[in-house]
Parts: sequence; structure tokens; C-alpha cells
Amino acid sequence: MSKVTVIIDGREIKAPAGRKLLWVALENGIYIPNLCAVEEYARPPASCRLCFVQVEGREKPVTSCTLPAADGLAVQTRSPRVDRLVRTAFELLLSDHRLQCASCPANRACELQKIARERKLKLRYGRFPYLQREPAPDDSPQTFAFDPSRCVLCGRCIWADQEVAKIGAIGFSRRGINRSVTTFKDVALAESPCNECGLCVKACPVGALYFKKTAESK
Ligand code: SF4
Ligand code: SF4
Repeated sequence: MSKVTVIIDGREIKAPAGRKLLWVALENGIYIPNLCAVEEYARPPASCRLCFVQVEGREKPVTSCTLPAADGLAVQTRSPRVDRLVRTAFELLLSDHRLQCASCPANRACELQKIARERKLKLRYGRFPYLQREPAPDDSPQTFAFDPSRCVLCGRCIWADQEVAKIGAIGFSRRGINRSVTTFKDVALAESPCNECGLCVKACPVGALYFKKTAESK
């Protein structure tokens, strides 16, 4: 693949032509918040709305997970518009998230905590009050459990299950506010085709999927 030069926050960086800017930035030590990004996606869903950058010459920020590297492409990872979009997306995510970091299995290894730290965002309910839906957890598997009240709907577990493990035990169901990760026909994970390979747990960026044994925990 031919190389191009992109400019991120004023830094000239060589990158393979067409490589998505999010990965170019992360590989070069430039942090851009993200939750749903998976490098192998041919068509990234761009659903978490956190990886916006400001492209020189374009009015509106664009998602860096969908932005191909091209020669001379110049972006800023921060701008007032980018920061506003990221803050709103983050606050909306939190409004449907049970925030109890101290007792969460992902505490200190959680992407939400990292985003808050990197972007100086508050990890607490703000403009959008907590919805308090708190759907029931599923701890039917022997080795792991799923607590949907901590799920950020990033889809990484589904990618791991369907594209890496090739099992197809889980998927998204329903739309809008009721969108959730479920098994086919909503059966418990232990009654689904899940073989407990654990790839979905390792792919989860927060504490929604977690191993039961601390020795195996992330
Ligand atoms: S998933 Fe992250 S932000 Fe949410 S409670 Fe757990 S540690 Fe805190
Ligand atoms: S369970 Fe984890 S990996 Fe799966 S969609 Fe929710 S947050 Fe993402």
C-alpha cells in the first residue's frame, strides 16, 4: 500500500493510503476517544459518535474511524465543535449507564474512565439525568456474566462472537432506546450456542461483560 502524509494536530505523519485516521492517530500516540471502533471493520458503524475530528477545509467535524488517510489531509483532534459533539455523546451514554465505578469489575481499566480522563469530562450524570432502566443481568455462564446496565452498545462483543469466534450467540435487538445486546429469542447465555470462549468479554471496553474469576479478569 502506498504511503501518504497526513497532518494531525500539526504533526506530519506517514501512513498507508486509505488507512482510517483514527488508527493512524492512535498508532502515533495521538489519542482520539472511541468505543465502537474495530480495526478489521470494512465499514465501521461509527455509532458511538466519539471519534470526531475537525478536517481542514470542511465545516463540520467528521468521524475519524471512517476518514481515509490521503496525502495532505490535515485534521485537528480538538476544536470547540469537536469538543461539544464529544461531550454530548459522552453525556448521553452516561445517562443510560449505571455508574458505580468502585464496585465495577472494569474499574481502572475502563474506556469510559479513560475518555473522561483524557478529555477532562466528568464521569457523573450531567445535563441528561440517569434513566434508571437497569435491565436484569445474566450470570448464567460459568465463567463470565453480562450486566446490560453497564453496556455502552459499542458492538465489540458481537463482532468478537460473530466475526472472530464465528459462533453467533449474540446480536443487537430492538431499536432506539430499547436497543440491547441479546441472544436469539432472548434466552439466557447458558442456553444459547455460546461456548464461553471469552472473546466477547475481552472485547468489552467497559464492565458490562466480565469474567467471574478475578484471576481471569481483565
Ligand atoms: S463501566 Fe467504567 S464507568 Fe461504568 S461503572 Fe464500570 S468502571 Fe465506572
Ligand atoms: S457488552 Fe460490552 S462489548 Fe458488548 S456492546 Fe455492551 S459495552 Fe460493548
